[in-house]
Formats: sequence, C-alpha cells, structure tokens
Amino acid sequence: MNELIIEVRVNEYSMRDGNPNVPWTPEEIGRDARAIEAAGASVIHFHARRPDGSPAHEIADYAAAIRAIREHSDLLINPTLGQITKGGTLERIAHLEAFAGDPVLQPEIVGLDPGSTNIDVFDAEARRFVSADKVYVNAHSTLLAFTARFRELGIKPALACWSVPFLRSAAALMDMEAAAEPGYLLLVHGEGGQLGAHPATPEGLRAFTDHLPRGRRVEWAVCCKGGNAFPLAMNAIATGGHVAIGIGDYPYPELGQPDNATLVREVVRLARLVGRPVATPARTRSILGLPARR
Ligand code: ZN
Repeated sequence: MNELIIEVRVNEYSMRDGNPNVPWTPEEIGRDARAIEAAGASVIHFHARRPDGSPAHEIADYAAAIRAIREHSDLLINPTLGQITKGGTLERIAHLEAFAGDPVLQPEIVGLDPGSTNIDVFDAEARRFVSADKVYVNAHSTLLAFTARFRELGIKPALACWSVPFLRSAAALMDMEAAAEPGYLLLVHGEGGQLGAHPATPEGLRAFTDHLPRGRRVEWAVCCKGGNAFPLAMNAIATGGHVAIGIGDYPYPELGQPDNATLVREVVRLARLVGRPVATPARTRSILGLPARR
C-alpha cells in the first residue's frame, strides 16, 4: 500500500477550555513539532497565536513559529493564510512574501480553499446559529493570484475542499496548471454544527472520493472540523487516502484530552493494523513532488 501522510492540525484558533494541550506560543508549537514527528507525523499545520491564545497576525509571529518548528523537526510546514483574521488579498500572503526564498522561513505547503462558504456554527440544542454572518470568501481571481505566486516561490497549495464544488474548482486549477500534479487535496468534513463542510460520515467522504479530479494525480487527506476524525481516518487509511488530524480541530474528550502526539500514535497504530507504511517527512516531500530539504 502507498505510504500514509499524517498531517497535524495542531492549534487552529482553539482555546484551552476543551483541551489544555493546545500549543499557542512558538516554543509550544516547536515542542509539539518534535513530539508529533517522533510519533510519525510528516506535516504540521499551524496558526500563529499570542501567549493569551488570541490570533497573532504579524509576520514576526509566523517567523518565530516557523523557526521553532525547523529547530525541533524536519516536518513540512503548512501555515495558515489567516482567512478571516486578515484583511485583503495581498495581506493574506504578506508573510509568504516576507519569507520568499528563505531556506528556513519559506514553508513547503500553504492551505488554499478553492471556493467560498458560510462558516457559521449551528447550535443544534439551542436551535440557533452561534453567529449568522460569517462567510469565507475565496474568489477565483484571488485563488489564481495566489497560485501564480506560489508557483514562482515553489510553494505547494494544499487545496482544502469543503464540498464537491470546491473539488471541481480544484480540478479546474489543475487543468490550468495553476496547481501542479500531484494535487494535495484536503477533504474537509464538519461536525458540531459546522454545516459548511460534508458530514463526517462514510457517505460524506464517499461523496468527495466519487468526485476526485479525473485523470489527474492527486493525494487526498481527510480532516474533521469540530468532531472526531478517527472514523474518517480509518476509512482513508484503508483506501489509500491520508490523514490530517489534531486537537486544533477537536479536543477529543473520548481520549481524555490528549496532546497532538497521542493522536498521531493512534493513527500510526491504525495504519499498522492494515499494513500501511507511514511516510517520513523526506518521503512526504517526494510523494508531493517537493524538492528534498537542503
Ligand atoms: Zn487552519
């Protein structure tokens, strides 16, 4: 079987009320990087955070976190573009421009969402939306501007698809050679009132995998915002997909509020059960068509 890429979504914008292990500071993110790599992960996705957990926007915040990750690991780095927390198009990639060509600071991968969606959370118990006006907007003009710049910089877009139409746009970007093969696709599922993505069910995943870009080489990974990703992970592990998991997405009370490395060890255990080898960071670079690290 093909090697399994394990990406860890270490923090998102999660606070610590659900799980006290969410890393915020560069030091905490660096320590987590070392632990998840030792456990079997090859990619880290993070959001820069302040010591009080609030979102950090400055280029220096991203630089500090990336330096800490590089110091402690060989992981491929996938920082956020700051979706909601930043302003216009160019501001969202200001940190990437600042790091362009820097052998330490330039990330290998950057998440890009090829579509727009409502992201309000629905509280099913109270039967109301927690917010009612949050829209995640990604115009094709923005996507094309970003992918053109990513190609120049040698950064691979991780195309985060919230529903089938996103996958169709991802396929279009590949047809235009705005995104190179193999495409790295993140199939986004949502639970806990996250209505903008597919449900984290076999049917929700199947709807995605039935619509993967035809005739294109892709590597796809599953994630679950607001819910337990293990049912999807089991399915992906058994069928050749990859796994993106982390306490940034969900605090995992089922596992006693684990740290990220514990989640990775569980994913590795499942992979062993079906004889699926786990990719090292070096192998993941090769699988995704990225150059070996200098
Ligand atoms: Zn994120």
